[in-house]
Amino acid sequence: TVLRVAIMGLGSYGTRVAEAMQDSKKAKLVGVISGTPSKITTWQSKYNIPAKNCYNYENFDAIKDNPDIDAVYIITPNSLHHPQTLRVAAAGKHVICEKPMALNAREGREMVAACKKAGVKLLVGYRMHFEANTLEVIQMREAGAFGDIKFFQGLSGFKIGDPTQWRLNKELAGGGAMMDIGIYSVNGARYMVGKEPIWVTAQETKTDPVKFKEGVDETILFQFGFPEGIVASCLSTYSMGNLDRFFLNGTQGFAEMQPSTGYGPIKGKTHKGPLDNPHITHQTVQMDRMAEIILEGKSAKVPVDGEEGLKDLIIIDTIYKAVASGKKEPINLG
Ligand code: NAD
Repeated sequence: TVLRVAIMGLGSYGTRVAEAMQDSKKAKLVGVISGTPSKITTWQSKYNIPAKNCYNYENFDAIKDNPDIDAVYIITPNSLHHPQTLRVAAAGKHVICEKPMALNAREGREMVAACKKAGVKLLVGYRMHFEANTLEVIQMREAGAFGDIKFFQGLSGFKIGDPTQWRLNKELAGGGAMMDIGIYSVNGARYMVGKEPIWVTAQETKTDPVKFKEGVDETILFQFGFPEGIVASCLSTYSMGNLDRFFLNGTQGFAEMQPSTGYGPIKGKTHKGPLDNPHITHQTVQMDRMAEIILEGKSAKVPVDGEEGLKDLIIIDTIYKAVASGKKEPINLG
């Protein structure tokens, strides 16, 4: 059996996922949900999608009565993830939702609760959790190869273009670089260190208040404290290129990765030598593994469920709080 997936939101990332799914052995693209009829027609002929599996944003609740779709992969702007997840769950279909899972922890909690109540799975599109070089570093850490972990550095950023895009619209994006790209350092700090942060300090800078309006962060520096005195230093920005780097340091060794979260290949090395697992399209591996999680009840080495997405939202809420207060803020993942 394969996981039969409908993609909601046929934009640039939706297109990338659709292409990658063509090589998946366990997940198959069988449906679409879009507000643009011409895109639906194009996707129908390209991926051989029957008309009965095509929906728009008004009528997709009817997916409830479609036995040929198992899961909906939500790949729309951030602010739509919450309402759309609630509707897909109410229709009794599993949800795969893109990052950030929602705009804040309150929304995230509602999504987790709604999927639980509906008896459907909620997974977040954390493709790095299935990437081979990343998993090798995590396995080395677990085996003690780095000794005691002391420090993580995460640098996540790119130069954003078109000022009219939804990523720079507070209503649709929920924030700025932090929601979109800084989240990779937030999430990465957690899976690289292998512990949960207990406090954060954060500072924001803005060089272009016209492009980056009120509530849309351009650059945020943030620092985490973990148990046992482990610390992390991270940068989230929309105004620097070539910024996709992780560095993990322990008492007996280190790992460095650059690029660390881009579409790949992920490159890097540890004190023992290069990371050289073969590159497989991240979204193909992700869909194979997610199909196993949903259909076979398998679990991911690094979780990708709604609770995991919620933790990042709680931490991001706390980062914004620390920016506003200028103080060290405790992180309460409880
Ligand atoms: P995009 O702008 O290319 O696509 C968004 C799609 O949503 C478009 O097709 C648009 O028509 C549609 N849409 C539906 N309702 C809309 C509305 N009210 N306003 C605007 N657009 C609307 O964006 P994208 O780059 O594909 O990003 C979509 C989601 O995927 C985001 O949440 C983003 O964070 C996530 N993403 C994840 C990764 C990853 O590597 N995991 C990479 C890129 C994007």
